[in-house]
Amino acid sequence: MRKTHTAGALRATDEGKSVILAGWVHRRRDFGGLIFVDLRDRYGMTQITLDPQRVPAEVFKAVEGIRAEYVIEVEGTVHLRPEKMRNPKLATGDVEVFATKVIIHNAAKVPPFPIDTDGTDVDENLRLKYRYLDLRRERMARNLTLRHKLIKHMRDYMDRNGFIEVETPILFKSTPEGAREYLVPSRVHPGEFYALPQSPQQLKQLLMVGGIERYFQIARCFRDEDQRADRQPEFTQLDVEMSFVDRDDVMALIETMLVQFTTEQAALHGKRLLYTPFRRLTFAEAMGRYGNDKPDLRFGMEIFDVTVATRDSQFAVFAGAPGVRGIVAPGCAAYTRKQTDELIEFARKEGAKGLVVLHHDPEGIRGSGAGAKLSEAEKAALIAAGGSKPGDLLLLVADAEGIALNALGKLRVEMGTRLKLADPNVLAFAWVVDFPMFTWDKDDSRWVPNHHLFTAPRDEDLDKFETNPGEVKGKQYDLVCNGYEAGGGSIRIHRRDVQLRVMSLLGLSLEEAYKKFGHMLDAFEYGAPPHGGIAPGVDRLAMLFAGEPNIREVIAFPKNQQAADVMLGIPSAATDKQLKELSVSVTL
Ligand code: ASP
Repeated sequence: MRKTHTAGALRATDEGKSVILAGWVHRRRDFGGLIFVDLRDRYGMTQITLDPQRVPAEVFKAVEGIRAEYVIEVEGTVHLRPEKMRNPKLATGDVEVFATKVIIHNAAKVPPFPIDTDGTDVDENLRLKYRYLDLRRERMARNLTLRHKLIKHMRDYMDRNGFIEVETPILFKSTPEGAREYLVPSRVHPGEFYALPQSPQQLKQLLMVGGIERYFQIARCFRDEDQRADRQPEFTQLDVEMSFVDRDDVMALIETMLVQFTTEQAALHGKRLLYTPFRRLTFAEAMGRYGNDKPDLRFGMEIFDVTVATRDSQFAVFAGAPGVRGIVAPGCAAYTRKQTDELIEFARKEGAKGLVVLHHDPEGIRGSGAGAKLSEAEKAALIAAGGSKPGDLLLLVADAEGIALNALGKLRVEMGTRLKLADPNVLAFAWVVDFPMFTWDKDDSRWVPNHHLFTAPRDEDLDKFETNPGEVKGKQYDLVCNGYEAGGGSIRIHRRDVQLRVMSLLGLSLEEAYKKFGHMLDAFEYGAPPHGGIAPGVDRLAMLFAGEPNIREVIAFPKNQQAADVMLGIPSAATDKQLKELSVSVTL
């Protein structure tokens, strides 16, 4: 080891020690003959002082040429800084190292962006193109450390609970679980393909048939989806499967793991939990109260329903609508016409026909048009249902349930953000349960599984399969946090007959079912135990703990929002030779 200490290690108690530090030049400042260098590594920063009286002339000369991001090694002695020169913001701020020897390991060009900021002001593609420079920032080092600690915690916790980590193949079979797949052509079998797994779902179930009983894996998953802020073509899950369990067992396992991580690593992430035990909501409740199946529960502003109270309204918009629902934006009664017009436009963009805005003044509820037409009883009902107070603004959507809930759900998040109602230091974990098992896909005119086709229906709903699929609820549970889905899982089907009924409902013929999922159907005939599992997203959790706005900030080498890696320049064309070997032809 060339270093005796990291750049974050030295304290006042190290005074007088001879040390060797190495790292990058963060900043160099010249002060009347003295040169100060802030030496940085992943662990921190130390001030190096170069005094021409103490270092040989040729060393001093060499150091005069160093610039930011040069790689240097410094030998010297630790000194206490004079009292007024101490820097309480820096962990090593009480000391400085008087250099006696300096080696310049490598020079550096001027970086395309400064390393000494947190990078929020730098174009993201530039950061990604020079990711190796971006990773030198304190923010990225902190995020990758947090991610490592999270994964280590997961592994240790699962091990303590009797789980074993089993690796499953990356070259898998094309059996869509919902998203589009990445295909890999086979050279050995011309014209045939592997697919990259969307998740190890089927293999972990087969591990249960294999008697493993408690499986986990820090698993990479691949989905060729259109990119969104919190999506990546490849991402990481803590993939879990257990035999002989109920829904509550799986939820308790993951909940305890997260509670422990939050408390044990509080110094690292500074977050606290809002609900312990985690809150539990049914899907219907989440939609009805928050207009979202992954609600941000850090603040209230719940959706209220005044359909009944406005049935006979003189205000035609209310009386004629299938329903009237709203939210209360606290303290926004002074919103100007321009501001409320913006909100109306927002609601329209989210699919609502419009938005009725009512101001709650000390005198009561007013509002152009609607305010004049509403009866005292209606106004009282609005105030009671929304818990509105003088000074608040009421935002109402008169529309079909689905449209109103969606628009108000989005508006709720928008107002929550504007009014800074969501505490950034808080994690509001919750479980959402009792999802409908199937949803009707209007475009394709068919039922699609809400989760995936291996999720078991509630026992009492088995008989509704053929008669009323829309009423069937699945044994699914989602882990949500601060407006994100942080993981999902379910108790699975473990019987061939039930699995075939689901497949048939989803439109798969027996032949197709066997072609795609024969391995599962066969396995279920050889004593498959009841089982269930879950897959919390590692990237999402790391993002939430790090307080970052997207998962790219917690991934060392992420793809950008066009699914490209601008540093590597991929995806890229293959050579004719490669394509020939793979028996693949490209038609553009
Ligand atoms: N395989 C599922 C997913 O990736 C998770 C699970 O059901 O365990 O969403």
